[in-house]
Amino acid sequence: MDTNIQKRLEQDLKVAVSRLRQIGGAVAVDELPGAIGDNSPFADEVDEIQANESREIGFATRELLVARVNRLSAALDRLSEGEYGTCVECSEEISPARLRAMPEVQTCVRCQDRLERLGRQYEPEETEPAFDDE
Ligand SMILES: [Zn+2]
Repeated sequence: MDTNIQKRLEQDLKVAVSRLRQIGGAVAVDELPGAIGDNSPFADEVDEIQANESREIGFATRELLVARVNRLSAALDRLSEGEYGTCVECSEEISPARLRAMPEVQTCVRCQDRLERLGRQYEPEETEPAFDDE
């Protein structure tokens, strides 16, 4: 039973990594998204915005894949540690149907839901640039 999950995870990991290679050359698996892009000082310049837009499309795909690769390898770690299938938030068992649909999930439906709502609350938080050089 566990072997099947492991195979599936390894397979998914392989696919994700090879897609990542196709998109962006060499890939560091531990590269985490988030460090780039928030406070560009050039945001006013149209050229810069357009350049960023096309860059961000590739970037978003890449970020998603990097995140997936990280989740899959984390899932494999958890599998080998015997923690696979347990929600990292509340320690309840994740439903088998959910694991079958998304073998790399680390949280149960309820916690996922809660986290997503939290995530959405964080996002609109746009601090205006300071205008106080009078
Ligand atoms: Zn949970």
